[in-house]
Amino acid sequence: MMNNKHPLLLVVSGPSGSGKGSMLGKYLKSAEDTFYSISATTRQMRPGEENGVNYHFVSEEEFKAKIEAEAMLEYARYCDHYYGTPKAPVEENLAAGRDVILELDVAGAMKIQKIRPDAIFIFTLPPSMEVLRRRLIGRNTEAEDVIAKRLAVAVEEIRQAHCYDYVVVNDDLDEAVCEFSCIVAAEKAKMERNQNFINEVFFQ
Ligand code: 5GP
Repeated sequence: MMNNKHPLLLVVSGPSGSGKGSMLGKYLKSAEDTFYSISATTRQMRPGEENGVNYHFVSEEEFKAKIEAEAMLEYARYCDHYYGTPKAPVEENLAAGRDVILELDVAGAMKIQKIRPDAIFIFTLPPSMEVLRRRLIGRNTEAEDVIAKRLAVAVEEIRQAHCYDYVVVNDDLDEAVCEFSCIVAAEKAKMERNQNFINEVFFQ
């Protein structure tokens, strides 16, 4: 029996439309002791989104006040809007032994890599650029110019995928969730995370 004395900090990135949100949503339905960090953003709420569920939707002034108060673990500007991770819930949940998932753009992930090099970095990819384009158009939540901007940012983000530990291609959702679960399981089974457990149980 391995316990969660070494909870994981998991950072997930991938272009807008890569399907990371669907993958994480499905993973979280069956994951135990896992906290999904709800980011703050200044972008507009999309139809179907809920304040405090998908994001904390805040004004630019409120966001800047949080930066001033050092209440953000990291933040970045993505397609003309601020996005950031509230620091306290991440720290509280890790301290309580829960795995924590951060869904971040590449700039935010690179900031976490500097302050938490022990975090695990996972990059999600669509099966092709054409599928990415079709997904962004198909979800019908952004104007044409915003889609074009997100596609351009996607290309730049994919160029930085090599900075991550793992890649998950999200073609089939169930397979992607399964791969993600395997990554978490493999990380938990690493010797460096279980040495204390071995000592406690077998060499008391
Ligand atoms: P969207 O507008 O599609 O919800 O998110 C746009 C991008 O912002 C995505 O790549 C998403 O992962 C990223 N993002 C969401 N929350 C945060 C955050 O707290 N910090 C950073 N750096 N990026 C975030």
